[in-house]
Amino acid sequence: MSACGGSDESGKVNCDEALAEIYLLLDKECSPERDAELRKHIEDCPPCLEEYGIDVQIKQLLARKCGGDLAPAELKSRLRASIRETVQQRGGLRYAETEIDIEELQTPDGRG
Ligand SMILES: [Zn+2]
Repeated sequence: MSACGGSDESGKVNCDEALAEIYLLLDKECSPERDAELRKHIEDCPPCLEEYGIDVQIKQLLARKCGGDLAPAELKSRLRASIRETVQQRGGLRYAETEIDIEELQTPDGRG
């Protein structure tokens, strides 16, 4: 039995849905019921849990360094790639301990 798959069970969240709604979860834009369904799936599904962990880390970093949603999408995607790499290198969900230098990822704009 695999943790992922089996999308014909009604009421169950599949990976595509979970991944698509991780941002909503983080922003608390889901209904409480949906929130619970998504979290249930994510906790039982290592790939989704990893993705969720990455997004949590991105959000925390951006909140700390950039004051939230002011960061451009490009920076977010670079952060995501960088965190994913770190997580894979460490072979676990140690995203909470990753130290990403957001300054390194930002391209200096308009110097001089
Ligand atoms: Zn999943």
